[in-house]
Amino acid sequence: MNAKKCLLIKNATILTVNSNKDVLTNGAVFVEGELIKDVGPSDELSVRYPNPDEEIDAKGCIVLPGFVSVHNHAGYLIYRGISEDIGQAPTPDLYVPMNQIITREERKNIGSLAISELVRGGVTTIFQMEEDVDVFTEFTHEIGIRSLMSIMTNDLCFEKFKNSVIEYDPLLTASEISKTENFIDVIKTYKSDRLIPAVAANMALTCSPELLQGLSKVASKNGLKLTIHVGIGKKEIEHVDKYYGKTPFQHAFDNGVLNKNVVAVHCHTVSDEDLQLMAKAEVSVAHCPQINSFRGVSARLIDFCRQGIKVGLGVDNFFSDYFEVIRSAISVSRLKAGDATTLKAYEALELSTIESAKVLGLDKQVGSIEVGKKADIQIVDMDGFGVCPVTDPIATLVYHAKSKDVDTVLVGGEVLLRNKKLTKVNERKVLSDAKSSSRNVWKRFNEINS
Ligand SMILES: [Zn+2]
Repeated sequence: MNAKKCLLIKNATILTVNSNKDVLTNGAVFVEGELIKDVGPSDELSVRYPNPDEEIDAKGCIVLPGFVSVHNHAGYLIYRGISEDIGQAPTPDLYVPMNQIITREERKNIGSLAISELVRGGVTTIFQMEEDVDVFTEFTHEIGIRSLMSIMTNDLCFEKFKNSVIEYDPLLTASEISKTENFIDVIKTYKSDRLIPAVAANMALTCSPELLQGLSKVASKNGLKLTIHVGIGKKEIEHVDKYYGKTPFQHAFDNGVLNKNVVAVHCHTVSDEDLQLMAKAEVSVAHCPQINSFRGVSARLIDFCRQGIKVGLGVDNFFSDYFEVIRSAISVSRLKAGDATTLKAYEALELSTIESAKVLGLDKQVGSIEVGKKADIQIVDMDGFGVCPVTDPIATLVYHAKSKDVDTVLVGGEVLLRNKKLTKVNERKVLSDAKSSSRNVWKRFNEINS
């Protein structure tokens, strides 16, 4: 059997994000195979491990855990520069018609760009939720990011929905459930701990109670996370009240999609009663402050934390700089609280790493730099314009670093980004395929919908 590859990162400022909040100056991390084997002062580790297979001199850099994004629609990067100004989730006018014309190949090419951008920006774990998420499996495996993968299911008759008729198709209900079960089996064939199957319902409007209950059973039978958009605005409240005489959260709870295995996405429209129910159900929240702030809404992050509800950060779609998501979380929380000291830099750093890992049930494996954990690590170059001088590493990183400052990314001890270049995929091809697919799909979209 081959010896495991060893890698030493040295001479760095290390934000461990462990429970002691340890910060090491001139620190080192020793990685053996996929795991972190040692963390400590650089001079000591250099003596202890004199001949690693690879050595990274991280002088002038900050080393921290890779970011964890708890909500992603990679293929929705197609809406970059298109849907930022047109209000909340433009489902009937944009998402539904686009879903009917985008090919699997086009979605794959566009989503591959999104996933590439996330890795380039220090994100090491994502939770993908999308209609044809299976088109990303191969690329996700190839680039090496850790990912929960879930088919975003719907059983609404979208043809009738165009005329504002809400009707569910029982044939679709059954096929969406079996599609999910088959996809779980496919993911398992990869036998990779970086590809994790999960279950997803889009939202109450597009999913019948039968579908929600069916998905809930699949998730609990297989011990998987389930995710659903909920608490997403007035239309959802009106719809669920009209058809079921309940609030969206009560509806989700009654249909088995509001419990401790569920990641509830957005939750920006939440009453005090909803908050109590969420806490009781032990549901986790995917907070996506950047995209939601552009849509004029924001979740009650501080109230969730006060209630002991687990919260993680999600990039969602068409944005990809996770540092911006962190800063949005801070600014939105401060605006909401009317208090400039709400959510300080270190709390935001925890939210982006260990707290997000908790939401996905992966905190024993990732989310901090600790001995025995997977080596999911990013190295950020702090020696350039915009980020120096580094007087306080935590505040400087959180408030000033950008995804373009990330130099190196490791997932499971494997280097996925080195000197700001992806190591496992052809960056030029990813860019050109995404650009040509985007051009083609929008041309067809405009021809059909003009
Ligand atoms: Zn979403």
